[in-house]
Amino acid sequence: MESRSIFRHLTKALQILFFPPVCPHCDGPTSDPFPILCPLCIDQLEPQSPFPFEKPFAGRLALFERQGAILTLHHLFQSGKRPFLADQLAPYFVVQALEANWPLPDLILYTPLSAYSQWKIGYNPSHLLAQKVSLILNRPLQSLLRPTHIRHPEWITGRNILLIDTQSSYEELFTLGHRIEQELPLRLYAIQLLQPFSSET
Ligand SMILES: [Zn+2]
Repeated sequence: MESRSIFRHLTKALQILFFPPVCPHCDGPTSDPFPILCPLCIDQLEPQSPFPFEKPFAGRLALFERQGAILTLHHLFQSGKRPFLADQLAPYFVVQALEANWPLPDLILYTPLSAYSQWKIGYNPSHLLAQKVSLILNRPLQSLLRPTHIRHPEWITGRNILLIDTQSSYEELFTLGHRIEQELPLRLYAIQLLQPFSSET
């Protein structure tokens, strides 16, 4: 048993020797064998403050500007290559929501993905992130939102809802927000990973 464990460590050490870990954004060296980014690139990640109030959202955040190292992470996460990035990104969602003094959500939702996109990527990135946020906050997560309709809309009524999103444009987010608003939530909050594109600009 002991020799097997030594062999495992040795194999890992050799892997790092011959394939030293590099930052996926700048190719710089990092001591982490499974790096999210190198320390320099991590320092570049600066979460943004909430947007001014804009219906139907009682609060809305886009965590990062669409530039620099976060774009590399977003691409890796959205293309299905690094699902484990949800673990590293979820704490940013939680910290910014707490800093904004939003109430704890009664229910966490995530933007749906078409069956084809989900099959192509292998997962719904917004769902993976929402799962981690739900675990950290210890608040329930539900798969109510579908591309064409809302399942059990009555579960939304009278509740504080937090919507997690990684891929929607500005218009898509607001269209989804208005659909949720029709079910009369107490308040609706949304966090997007990146500053959303506007299809009108
Ligand atoms: Zn780097």
